[in-house]
This record gives sequence, C-alpha cells and structure tokens, in this order.
Amino acid sequence: GIKLSAFGEKFAGVTGASSLMDDLGNALNDNPDMLFMGGGNPSRIAPMEAAFKQRLAAIADEPAQLFGALGVYKSPQGDSRFLRSMAAMLKRQCGWALTEKNIAVSNGSQSAFFVLFNLLAGVQSDGSHKVIRLPLAPEYLGYADSGLSADFFHASEPAIELLDGGLFKYHVDFQQFSVDEHCAAVCVSRPTNPTGNVISDEELQRLDQLARAADVPLIIDNAYGTPFPNILFTDAKPLWNDNTILLLSLSKLGLPGARTGIVVGNEAVIRAFSNANAVLNLASGNMGAAIVQPWLDNDALISMSNELVRPHYQHKVTEAVAVARAALAGTPARIHKPEGAIFLWLWFPDLPITSQVLYERLKARGVLVVSGHHFFPGLVHEWPHRHQCIRVNYAQDSHTVQQGFQIIGEEVRRAYGGA
Ligand code: PLP
Repeated sequence: GIKLSAFGEKFAGVTGASSLMDDLGNALNDNPDMLFMGGGNPSRIAPMEAAFKQRLAAIADEPAQLFGALGVYKSPQGDSRFLRSMAAMLKRQCGWALTEKNIAVSNGSQSAFFVLFNLLAGVQSDGSHKVIRLPLAPEYLGYADSGLSADFFHASEPAIELLDGGLFKYHVDFQQFSVDEHCAAVCVSRPTNPTGNVISDEELQRLDQLARAADVPLIIDNAYGTPFPNILFTDAKPLWNDNTILLLSLSKLGLPGARTGIVVGNEAVIRAFSNANAVLNLASGNMGAAIVQPWLDNDALISMSNELVRPHYQHKVTEAVAVARAALAGTPARIHKPEGAIFLWLWFPDLPITSQVLYERLKARGVLVVSGHHFFPGLVHEWPHRHQCIRVNYAQDSHTVQQGFQIIGEEVRRAYGGA
C-alpha cells in the first residue's frame, strides 16, 4: 500500500461521491441493459448536438481558432474574449453591472466549488474554524467531502409543505437557519439537485440579506438555472450582486465532457479564484468556451436554452410525473414538485425499508437510481426522512423512464406490503 497523508486519507479514501460513482459504473458494466436513472447526465438533444458538431467543424477548419482552442494555455482566469463576451451577455440578459473582471472559467463547476469552498471555510489564519452553511437539506451530493478539514458543512432541515396531487415542496426554515460567526459562506443550488426544488425569489432575497448582514458571500449554484441552460419550469429571477458568487456551467446544455464552469463574482473573488486555479490547473480548458463563443455575442446560447433545452425537459418532466404517478398510485409516495433540473425526487413516508435497501432491490431488478440519504451533506442529526427518498434521473429516453418507473412502483408496493 501507499503511506497517505491526512489529505491522502481523506481524498484517496472512499468518499460518498466516489463510492456512488463506482457503484453506478460497476452496475452498468455488469449489466449494460440496466435502466440508467442514476447519475447526473443530461439528455441528448439532437439539435444541440448538431450545433456542437457544426462549431467543432468550424473550429477545426480555421487554423487560428484551432490554435486558440487547443494550442495555447490561456490565463488562469480564462480567455479574455470569452470573459468579455460572457460579462456583456449576462449584463444584457440580467442587467448586472459586470465586466470581464467579474468572470473566471473553471474546469467544470465542480472544481470551482472545491476551490471556493476551501478559499473561504475551514481553518482560518487565527486558528478558528468556519463552515459553509447550507440553508436547505437535501442538497447536492457533490459538495460533500469537498472540504479540506472535517466538519465543513452545516445544513438545516427544511420545512415541508404538502401539496395536492401527491406532491410536496421543501422551503427554507428560517426558524432553524441562521448565519453566525462560524459561517464562512452560504451556499444553495437553484434549481436544486436532487429535488428539482427552486427556492423562491423571496427566500433567495432573505438569504442574500442574511449573508450581507453577516458579511459573508452567498454562493448560488446555477448549474441548471437561468439564463442558461434554463432547465426551469417555474418563474425564478436570477440574482447577482457584489456579495454573490454565481456558478454557471455548460454541462447541462449537453456539454458535460467539455468540463467548463463559469464563476461570476466581485473582482476580489475572481482574483482569488484565478490565483488558486493557476496553482491547481495552470489554466482551464479552452474547448467549451471556444464552442459557445459566437453564441454569447448574438445571444444564441440564451435562445437555444429557451427554445431547445427548456422545452425538451418540460416535455420530459410532464411525462415522467404522469408515469411516476401511475406507477405509484395507491401508495403513500409523494413527488417533490419538479420546478427545475433533471430529476424526480420521490418521498416514501414511513417506508418500512431504508432507501438504500430500496436502491439495492431496484439495482437487482435492473433499474439504477440514487438513494436519497447521500444528499444530506452537513446534516448531523438523524432524521428518518433522509432514508425515505430516492432520486430518479428522467433525462433518458421515454422507454427507459416508463420501464424504470414501472419497476420502481412494483418494488415500492412490495416494500410497503411488508415484503
Ligand atoms: N452543481 C450541481 C447542482 C450539479 O448537479 C452538478 C452536476 O451534476 C454540478 C454542480 C457540477 O457540474 P459540472 O462540474 O459539470 O459543471
């Protein structure tokens, strides 16, 4: 074996994310016919793929573009033309006072979270310790384990609103949530992975006010949000100001392989991020930025999000909810109101087995979902609810979604029936 440092023991060991990714990967290797409703892969959307292909061909055909995309290290902040175009587009679309000094490019937003979280939370120079506050659990599993020190995230339980039609919705419980002197930053995904929740404009404004009052940044994870890729089925105003750090990504447009994230922050945040990015990566990859560059200046990225990406998922989610309702009819199951992102979050109140056991049973039947208990980073006390939910990705083709929910319905019935 190798002798590991404390860092090594934490990151080379089995983390929630690595064991989950392994398990999903192994299950697919063992059974290639597995109905894959785990993971965070976006849909294949034919006109988007055609547009990517056209851009790749144009880049390959033009020596200066090809060199710019593949032949050079750009600055650790990113390609200056891309930064200017992105700032101008966000300013046009959202009205924010941005310049290229407010934007940086990362190798996927996942790596930007790692850098930003550790720039802010953990051991401080005076020896004290600060945490990232998550106002609402469940929250994105990818945050878990990303802290260089222990006890890195503190999450709050949500308030639960029961809705008609077998739906429910989480809200920030402002009785439980506070920003104290141990808090380094507040972070929320909007839309939320895993639940498809979109915290309301009012909730977001309240978080913004609480963060400002405590003089800590509010980090908003916009991987699915507006203005792109705009996988949103409800009205939600985007928010950015000097105290906000907004993380955007090209992944859910259909480019997860390009590994391109975009950090939008005040100039000090962007300088700090860029310096850290230089140490970790020298520079970020150029390809994602090169593909979308012309679509920033003419706002095509926004129209593609609105006209191709959002309607695609709107159709998928409507179908998925209908299929899930039919499959689960007569059981106590509830569906989180899907307001965005690419998942249905199912809650099985008083489920006699844990969600992990349900996950194993579904895997044995050839359906891969994700057990909900992974999605509570920073929630320390036990809460039965966290073992009563699963996340189902509905981005695959209709056949997969229908077959998958059919089997989910059968296994849920069996579990409630005491078998
Ligand atoms: N944030 C959320 C909420 C996500 O769901 C994901 C990916 O699934 C990410 C961030 C990371 O995305 P990427 O690193 O591909 O930009």
